Amino acid sequence: MTRVLVLNCGSSSVRYKLFDGADVRAKGLIQRIGEDGGDAGDHLSALRDLMDRLDLSDLAAVGHRVVHGGDRFTSSTVITDEVVAAVEELIPLAPLHNPGALTGIRVARKLLPDVPQVAVFDTAFHSTIPPEGLLWAVDHELAERWGLRRYGFHGTSHSYVSRETARILGKPPAETNVITLHLGNGASAAAVRGGRCEATSMGMTPLSGLVMGTRSGDIDPSLVFYLHRVAGLALDEIEESLTRHGGLAGLTGVNDMREVLRRRAEGDGQAALAFEIYVRRLKEYTGAYLALLGRVDAITFTAGVGENSPDVRAAALAGLSALGITVDEDRNRANALIISPDGAPVTVCVVPTEEELEIAHECRRALALTT
Ligand code: ADP
Repeated sequence: MTRVLVLNCGSSSVRYKLFDGADVRAKGLIQRIGEDGGDAGDHLSALRDLMDRLDLSDLAAVGHRVVHGGDRFTSSTVITDEVVAAVEELIPLAPLHNPGALTGIRVARKLLPDVPQVAVFDTAFHSTIPPEGLLWAVDHELAERWGLRRYGFHGTSHSYVSRETARILGKPPAETNVITLHLGNGASAAAVRGGRCEATSMGMTPLSGLVMGTRSGDIDPSLVFYLHRVAGLALDEIEESLTRHGGLAGLTGVNDMREVLRRRAEGDGQAALAFEIYVRRLKEYTGAYLALLGRVDAITFTAGVGENSPDVRAAALAGLSALGITVDEDRNRANALIISPDGAPVTVCVVPTEEELEIAHECRRALALTT
């Protein structure tokens, strides 16, 4: 039994990858489920068609990406009815994300009742953050009553790229300190000490921290009260504005960094400002995590922007040579694996993230499979 099917189910999409060991046997994206002209009428027919098409002989497990594991799930977990119920209870914390995963889990269990299924949580890698990094300075009774705390997200990516970074450095993960910068549509930073996460920029939800495609990242929370009281916006409208019309989209009208970079190169002042806000926030978090870790072996960029934008990487780390951080221009332009000069005190890396591979790996770990 060597194959693992990884499913990342959203409310209207299913992303899948079928692994045989570390080899990818099939992958794809089923889109606009339930919409006119979409790929499938519902998740059941989407997954049934998919499973008819794939060679699922020798299938050892199905791994499901689940965004929010709350404080119940601190590692990947074999799915039972109780696990399904617990993931359902977490919907208020991740109303946009957990329902899609739940549907995928229910359908996949129905279609493949004899195959063990594993939930792999975006939050789990962050469960090692100490209380002072999880809690905010708010009324502690309110916080306890309502479970107000940081969870963090993109955990499979931060876990994978921090371990890969240690491998590139030729050091054991347990002796390697890394700042990981996952810059996709969603974006987050993490401080990883010896393989264990110590800080991350996203919070109770994926809204806080870095500037993202459509999410604002950190703001003064008083903006919410002010927009409500003074501007007369309803809470739902404010949430929509901060999550869907914030970030690069809010600043420029487009969420795609490539387009922002193109406009900036053409002299568009608003695109240039958006870029500066984006990279300044990155530098602020990098500085904070340098201080937190004390000694940093590497800073690693990953995901769409991190893997592909020399401009973002160079600007985010500009002026930090006194801290041992420099970027070699040619290596950076080439998106090389290591973009710092040889012998630099801090190695700067570009590591493509492999979230699905990490999920497959987690499935084997959760099921204690050796293959
Ligand atoms: P998701 O978070 O949806 O998985 P990705 O990790 O694919 O997203 O990242 C998407 C982001 O990566 C988009 O903002 C896109 O513009 C950006 N991106 C992709 N290629 C490049 C590139 N060559 N230069 C700059 N940004 C890029």
